[in-house]
Amino acid sequence: MIIMACIFFFSIPAHGHVNPTLPLVCELTARGHRVVYYETEEFREKIEAAGAEFISIEPYMPPAPENIDQVAGKDFASLIEMVSDTAIALDARIAQDIRAYQPALIVGDSVCFWGKLFARKYDIPFVCSTTTLAFNRHTAKRMKQRPGEILRMLLGMPRIEKRMQRLRSHGYPVNSLIDIIQNDEYTDTIVYTSRLFQPDAETFGENYAFVGPSVPRRYPRITQDRPLVYISLGTVLHNAPGFYRRCIAALKDMDCRAILSIGNSVSPASLEPLPANVQVFPRVNQLEVLSQADVFLTHCGMNSVSESLLTGVPMVLFPQHSEEEAVAGRVAELGAGRRLKGMSVRAIRSALEAVLSNPQYRRKAQAIATDFARCGGAKQAASFIIQRISR
Ligand code: UDP
Repeated sequence: MIIMACIFFFSIPAHGHVNPTLPLVCELTARGHRVVYYETEEFREKIEAAGAEFISIEPYMPPAPENIDQVAGKDFASLIEMVSDTAIALDARIAQDIRAYQPALIVGDSVCFWGKLFARKYDIPFVCSTTTLAFNRHTAKRMKQRPGEILRMLLGMPRIEKRMQRLRSHGYPVNSLIDIIQNDEYTDTIVYTSRLFQPDAETFGENYAFVGPSVPRRYPRITQDRPLVYISLGTVLHNAPGFYRRCIAALKDMDCRAILSIGNSVSPASLEPLPANVQVFPRVNQLEVLSQADVFLTHCGMNSVSESLLTGVPMVLFPQHSEEEAVAGRVAELGAGRRLKGMSVRAIRSALEAVLSNPQYRRKAQAIATDFARCGGAKQAASFIIQRISR
């Protein structure tokens, strides 16, 4: 039996990737285990509140590209450069920490490849934390890359190969790009959705734990006298003032109340004057807003979609890149939302009205909520990790 183990967590600095791990960290530390979490300063407070020891990776990270708003999630070569440079810059520190803490296991986000690289180099058991859909050769077909993404990827290949060579010269056993970005079919993996929502779920074995959404708390459903529309493009690619303006114009004459979460790149003042039924915030407590919402116009980040389904809220789907396309496709396939066709005021209004007026969308979302409620969440994820350590 394990009395107390030390577990290292690695994630990229993105709320969508860190958020679902926090209830898991809480659960592990509540069970008496020690968690050391490597992240940037922005996340210190919430990681420490979850009970982990925080180590800042900020001094080791290369500067973010100036056009991060345009490339995040789309420019693969930049991602690989960032990941390999961070792994190499962190290497000496990690070697030292491994000697000091003697971690029994590393949990690494599926996109934060440096977690996997450290586990391999230092021969430490590894569990992959997947905050997107799980991908293998079957589901990868659903990630329809847009022509611009494919072109960027092809043009970026020489940069990627250069980083592969650098990694090898620092003792990282990487054969190819695929070796870094894809887990083999035996990697133990936690996925924060259910087997019902996961496409091609039957192609994933027992080493995949589909634990369902992992959220800090649930809010009771509150019904309003007028429908509530919630709009957000997430925490990364949200610099879209023109789109917000068109949403506001579409909402102006609708018999509803609306909340827009616009992030910190667009100033709320620049969207004024606002109609009386619309409120705009840089950030909201999304789970709380969803507990009152009747429709969510979302960019289809996996967490936003999971949170919407968890609360039984149907969606208007507005994916921004290939991974979000795959998530949007699955929501549409299961009938819990419909795609936004075009970006005009008329298209936005008609998609919102279509979802609000057809109870079928809500029924389908609620059926998935019922399925999610049967999943084990953070508790199941923690038990999965402990079992891997005890093996
Ligand atoms: N979020 C939030 N408040 C907001 C907007 C987003 O708390 O105003 C949270 C949301 O609940 C979710 C995460 O940020 O957990 C966004 O993750 P997602 O995967 O949906 O998208 P990303 O931001 O990574 O594109």
